[in-house]
Amino acid sequence: MKVMKAARWHAAKDIRVEDTPIPSPNDNQVKIAVKFTGICGSDLHEYTHGPQLIPVDKPYSLNGHQGTTTLGHEFSGVVEEVGKNVKNIKKGDRVTVEPIFRNPESPFVTTGEYNLSEPLGFVGLTSNGGFAKYVVVEDYMVHKIPDKMTFEQGAIVEPAAVAAYAIHQSGMKMGDTILITGAGPIGLLTVQVAVAMGASQIFVTDISENRLKKAKEVGATHTFDARDKDIPKNIKELTGCGVDVFIDAAGVQASFDTGINSLRNGGTAVLVALFAKEVVHDALNHTLRELTIKGTAAYRNIFPQTIALINSGRLPVEKLITSVISLDEIVEKGFEALTKDPSEVKILVDISR
Ligand SMILES: [Zn+2]
Repeated sequence: MKVMKAARWHAAKDIRVEDTPIPSPNDNQVKIAVKFTGICGSDLHEYTHGPQLIPVDKPYSLNGHQGTTTLGHEFSGVVEEVGKNVKNIKKGDRVTVEPIFRNPESPFVTTGEYNLSEPLGFVGLTSNGGFAKYVVVEDYMVHKIPDKMTFEQGAIVEPAAVAAYAIHQSGMKMGDTILITGAGPIGLLTVQVAVAMGASQIFVTDISENRLKKAKEVGATHTFDARDKDIPKNIKELTGCGVDVFIDAAGVQASFDTGINSLRNGGTAVLVALFAKEVVHDALNHTLRELTIKGTAAYRNIFPQTIALINSGRLPVEKLITSVISLDEIVEKGFEALTKDPSEVKILVDISR
């Protein structure tokens, strides 16, 4: 049996770099030799208090995957082998992966809203992922990347697509003002997309000074300590009547309240963060101020635009990379570093290192 090294989740606080069989593709799958894989907030949740999305009690119905899982859903690589039904992808293609599973029976796949298909699942959570030398994915997940795009950039397409989709769903227009709560990777990528889309003022809140500094570096016009109670008042003074768009990339009661209170009447809120707890919400205020509050589940139909924007140089996602580590270092310099060190933003694992 041929084996490869992979970072595998066994339980919370138990990720092991160990040998695992090299996977081979079925007729509709693609095998990729992985170059770079990013550590995502959702990987971190699995590490600190998982399982959250990893199917432990019963198998994921679309592929039968269950239990111990190779993490990693933000990656780039080179196609190694394709199944016999795969038409548009060939060996040697440079690619990135849109890791959402689509249930072929779902009515939402027919309508093109494939991210709403159930049961929700991702490569690297409900199948083995990219913290390994090789990964096998469904053919519909694979996107080619341009020759001049680096594999490091290719590994950040996935989180950038989350940000691009959030801005797209917000209906933000050129010259609009925007508040982004939370300056983690998704919040910072949202700042970059807002800059590329022509926002006039970009407000960012976080509790980490380091992250607010990073937000300024990538294009925020104003930053606030998230604990400051006067944020809505300050934003109203700076904008006249409040921001046109609020993106919640923090996902707690305080960020939600700050955002709703900072919106202009008629404004739009987009909830991107995965809220860990329920929030209390004033529905009458919502009605009387004609607010729109939307949720976004990852992304759909936006990878090609995100890839093009990164390739154009107008979405410099590589600025968010704070460390590049080897697979062997993933627990200490990856997961542990992200839980302890607020100056870390995006950590990439160089699989060939
Ligand atoms: Zn992610």
